[in-house]
Amino acid sequence: MTATSKKERAIRTVEMIVPPPPAHWVGDGFKVHGYFPHGPLPATRVSPFFLLDYNAKTDFPPREEPYGVGPHPHRGFETVTIAYKGKVEHHDSRGGGGIIEEGDVQWMTAGSGLLHKEFHEAEYNRKGGPFHVVQLWVNLPAKDKMTPPKYQAIANAEMGRAKLAYGGEVEIIAGEFDGVKGPATTFTPVHLYNVRPAKGSSMTLDFPTGFTTLILAVEGSGLINGTDELKTDHLAVLSREGEVLTLEATEENSTFLVMAGEPIDEPIAQYGPFLMNTKAEIAQAIDDFNSGKFGYLE
Ligand code: MN
Repeated sequence: MTATSKKERAIRTVEMIVPPPPAHWVGDGFKVHGYFPHGPLPATRVSPFFLLDYNAKTDFPPREEPYGVGPHPHRGFETVTIAYKGKVEHHDSRGGGGIIEEGDVQWMTAGSGLLHKEFHEAEYNRKGGPFHVVQLWVNLPAKDKMTPPKYQAIANAEMGRAKLAYGGEVEIIAGEFDGVKGPATTFTPVHLYNVRPAKGSSMTLDFPTGFTTLILAVEGSGLINGTDELKTDHLAVLSREGEVLTLEATEENSTFLVMAGEPIDEPIAQYGPFLMNTKAEIAQAIDDFNSGKFGYLE
């Protein structure tokens, strides 16, 4: 006779490990590996996320003229920019602007739309040096796609912090870990953390079954569930089924970007920087852009 007093927690398994795809340039300032959406990772598989562009650590030589990308629009989603090394300066068509310092995050809700430009910050640009930046696009549900644009500038000191039982810590940007909340507000359930376990120590991640769960090794390397190796700049895609997984750092100073969220089960229509639900909404976005409704920016 067997009696189960405690429900077994189902393991969330590694479905694939994606090596860094060949890098491409965004303007002349961002040399990025684009992990999705394409190939084995279509938008439906990574929802609520839509795109991951990762500028792996790259040395930019000193230059007077800032590296970056000039004015371009966005509508229908959010861009989350994480500066691990280097500084990013941005300006938009509504008069907003600022600097994303090393360790900081910018959570920009494009919503109904704006134009912006993204450059290496002027003083950093003149000196040059290591640049290490993630840009993650988070989709918005249909009802919030035309929300007014806004920024959440999240300084490193404002992030939630949780000590890990076996050494190391978790920096919580959004969502919650072990009862500690991150400062970013989101439109759908999203957890975004920098996880830094001490070398040789393991930690547990636990998300509801059905959630998309992705882990990018931005520094060092790790071992998932004791069996699956995750090397630097590789992306682990976890199963939607299951709940818990373990993540061990196998090198000193390892950092893992953990992205988890509830999929948005709605149609996707994309054209460049516009991310909507229907072709008609894309046509409207192009019309609005051409007629100056996104504003102007030089
Ligand atoms: Mn942009």
